[in-house]
This record gives sequence, structure tokens and C-alpha cells, in this order.
Amino acid sequence: RAVVEAEAARLPGRLADGSPVRVLINVAEPEELDAIDPAICDGIGLVRTEFLFHSPGGLPDEETQFRAYRRMLEWAGERPVTIRTVDAGGDKPVPGLTIDGESNPFLGTRGVRLSLLRPEIFRIQLRALARAAPHGNLKVMLPMVTVPGEIEAATRLLDAAVAELAAEGISHMRPPLGIMVEVPAVAVVPDLYADAAFFSIGSNDLTQYATAAARDIAAVAPLCDAGHPAVAALVANVVRAGERLGREVSLCGDMGGDPRHLPALVAAGLRAVSVAPRLVGRVKQALAAIGPDGAA
Ligand code: PEP
Ligand code: MG
Repeated sequence: RAVVEAEAARLPGRLADGSPVRVLINVAEPEELDAIDPAICDGIGLVRTEFLFHSPGGLPDEETQFRAYRRMLEWAGERPVTIRTVDAGGDKPVPGLTIDGESNPFLGTRGVRLSLLRPEIFRIQLRALARAAPHGNLKVMLPMVTVPGEIEAATRLLDAAVAELAAEGISHMRPPLGIMVEVPAVAVVPDLYADAAFFSIGSNDLTQYATAAARDIAAVAPLCDAGHPAVAALVANVVRAGERLGREVSLCGDMGGDPRHLPALVAAGLRAVSVAPRLVGRVKQALAAIGPDGAA
């Protein structure tokens, strides 16, 4: 099976009727890329930047972040690379950044909420991203967006970082700023988030929030199920909004790498998934057996 999957990984993502589905990869550590041929994917759909924030030396400086982002952009060449701003908090505590002792961290100060609370730390990441942007096809993505005002606030901070770099004469570009759709409030009324340059559905969090069953509590794992029809309905709602607004929609949660869920995602109109690198072949193989209406 591994050999067949490795061969499938080399083919472009297609449904049974030959229509294209983009298959991108999720990356948590830049070192992972050394063993991967960029030709197997349509780009990087999610870089989880938390790896930078777990070093024993404390929070990463601008230069460290810039080098890590540039390396991934150079690996991808022309292909798009979507880097997510740090998603600390919830199941991902970061010493010196996250707030200890919240009664329910998944509903607390995580993702963009924390970045906006600590603009001096967010600024360093935004500067490093804008500096890396000329080295490839960069898109920047905000995690855990809940209200449109968070996009506005982050846009202001990104624009300020870009203005600073211009004033300092440092090479940079302003990357497009999109959002994760992983809070049900966004998935229900996505048209209100038209300030986002693109939507990337985070099905892991979207599932846990839609089912009110935590993703890290084994006893409720059967309830925290991306197969619940509510999740596919939310995905379909976001896909339709993307079509109305002219925004790209992709999905970067584990649901997109699971052949059991791909028919429902295709039926929902989704045509881009970002998955763990080892799943690319399996996903392309599964897609090739699915019709454009999601039927086998
Ligand atoms: C998600 O929530 O689906 C997602 C891709 O992000 P993470 O798993 O890092 O929260
Ligand atoms: Mg998430």
C-alpha cells in the first residue's frame, strides 16, 4: 500500500471526473521539509508556528523567525505557503506568553486573542513575516478569529509593521491576511468576515466547538466527531460564502486527511485540502474515486 500511495502522491489531485482538487501539506517543524519533494503538493496550506515558541531560550526574535519562514518559502518556490500566526493557548501553552489558570483554556485567551493582547510580541512575528514575503508566495493566516474586529486590529498591526520596515529601508512585502474558520460563529455567518483575504477551515477546533466535546478528552472522543453532519453543513456554508465573496476556501484540519470524510467535503463543494505530508498519496487516491457530487 505504501508504494501505491507514494506513486499516487506524485499525481495531481483529481476527482473521478478529472476535475482538480488542490492538495497541500501541513507543517509543524521546518526540518520535516528536508525529506519531502515539493512536487507532491500544491503548496503548504498550514504552518503551525508554535514550534518557534517552544525553544528553551524563550520567545523567538525577529531574525530567528525570519530565517525559519524564508526557509519554508524557498522550499516551496512558486507554490503558496500559508503561515499561521502563533496559536498559543488552549492545548498549546507557551511559557511567558499564555495565561495560566484559565478555567477552560479552549474557550479562553488563545490564538489571535492572545496575539492582540500582546501586540509587542505579535509585532515581531508580523515584521518577520513581511520580511520573508519577498522570498516566495506567502499568505498569512490568523487562528481562532471570532469577530470581524480581530481582522481589523490585526490588519492595522500588519500595516504598521510594513510601514516600519519601509521607513527602516528593510526589504519586505505585505502578504495577504486570511483567517482560520474554526469558531462556529464565523462558520455560520462567514459573509461578515469579508475583510479576510481567504478562509481556511480548521476542522479540528470547529468540530470540538460545534459538538461541545473537547478534542483532548478521551471520554468524549466519540462525540468530537468530524463525521457529524453539522460539520459538513458548516463547511458547505463557508464554501458558498467563499464563492459569493470571491475568497479561496480550503480546509486544514485532520478531517481533510481522512478518506472517510472526503466524500462529504467534496459534496460540500470543497476543492482544496491541506493534510499531513504522509497522507498526501492516500488522499489523492481517495479523491480519484469520488465524483463531484461526493458519490463513489
Ligand atoms: C484545526 O483546528 O483544525 C487546525 C488545523 O488547527 P490546530 O489543530 O493547530 O488547532
Ligand atoms: Mg485550530
